[in-house]
Amino acid sequence: MKEIEMCSCTFCGKPQKLAKKLIASPNGDAFICDDCVRICADIIKEEVQKVRVLKDLVVPSPKEIKEKLDNYVVGQDRAKKVLSVAVYNHYKRINYNYHNKVVKDGDKSKNAVELEKSNVLMIGPTGSGKTLLVKTLAKILDVPFAIADATTLTEAGYVGEDVENVLLKLIQNADYDIARAQRGIIYIDEIDKLARKSENRSLTRDVGGEGVQQALLKIVESTIASVPPQGGRKHPQQEMLQIDTTNILFICGGAFVGLDEIIKNRMTSGALGFNASIMGKEEKAKIDYNKDVQPDDLVKYGLIPEFIGRLPIITGLDDLDQDALQKILVEPKNSLVKQYKQLFKIDGFDIKIESDAIAYVAQKSIELKTGARGIRTIMENRMFDLMFDLPSPEEYDKIIITKEFFEKGEKPIFIKKQQPDNKEAV
Ligand code: ADP
Repeated sequence: MKEIEMCSCTFCGKPQKLAKKLIASPNGDAFICDDCVRICADIIKEEVQKVRVLKDLVVPSPKEIKEKLDNYVVGQDRAKKVLSVAVYNHYKRINYNYHNKVVKDGDKSKNAVELEKSNVLMIGPTGSGKTLLVKTLAKILDVPFAIADATTLTEAGYVGEDVENVLLKLIQNADYDIARAQRGIIYIDEIDKLARKSENRSLTRDVGGEGVQQALLKIVESTIASVPPQGGRKHPQQEMLQIDTTNILFICGGAFVGLDEIIKNRMTSGALGFNASIMGKEEKAKIDYNKDVQPDDLVKYGLIPEFIGRLPIITGLDDLDQDALQKILVEPKNSLVKQYKQLFKIDGFDIKIESDAIAYVAQKSIELKTGARGIRTIMENRMFDLMFDLPSPEEYDKIIITKEFFEKGEKPIFIKKQQPDNKEAV
């Protein structure tokens, strides 16, 4: 074996003292440094991914998807139906294009009709379940999922996150399995905040908004994007991850405050007041984003037409009322009440929250105007106090939470544990 001081990496020539680790071949004639090992591993990983044949995704029917969504998301029936069909079609399309070998820039099998993807736009107030819907869909379909906040995105070269970083998040959530990431779902929240200023009615943001829409356009439709593996800015010497966005489903969401006014104006300013006359009083008061939105309204709002064109499916979510909020507290598979019950059970307490306490929390959260987010805030505030002041589980084993616990800050009712000797025979 060579003298260790003289050794250097047989691949890149790096001397041993500059390498973190130098590994010798079994006969001691060749060496490889840690950097070269890493590069070789990447090359192998890439090759494996290239030859990996993706199996068809097993896609449940729209009805089945909707039923599964019902387990987690309260109300929002129309949005659930629209999303179930959109997602079903999306993955059916991927399977179809794959089997018919439809490839970008022309199809190999001459007769195949290429099915184009339809991304989705969700319009609904804060805390109405937009993110929850998309997250749940990804879970149901077992595809990777990433969320991006449009307000943090910038065009390349500006301070903030490049749009490619959204793709990196997806790749990371797919454990760097690019093939899986290429069939994932990306949710872009607060898309309404990218509205450009000239047509923008809510003056919350304008800087770079249109530029970000342009930057998003490319990835939302279909492109092969180069993504820096560590995130951040691109670096000329950096190895890039390549990801094809053709089969990634993009779902954008936003509250679009003020859009209803734009729609109302359009509906009531028809020629000779014709539209005005066909609009009843109630319709004037409430716009249904599931059927009333037209692309032009969104242009007026400040989205660029090309971007709107990439989001052909539009669906609306309703404001959650008292009844819906109460249901959200108790009904979903992982509702807050169920989660708290479980948390207390671990500590040996059986906890019951009275129905008027639930109603009170729902009513208070309507006042906060943050949709279902409010219920978490209100619950957490008080439950944390309770968790801090818990009595001994040796002595007490039941806790009853009353309305007064939330309303007046009173203590809940603690019920003493029955001693074994006075337990009734069962
Ligand atoms: P959005 O994206 O519309 O602002 P989210 O989906 O992030 O709202 O919802 C915020 C919180 O409220 C989440 O914790 C979610 O569990 C709950 N939530 C909101 N809407 C619903 C709903 N319709 N059904 C069940 N939970 C909901």
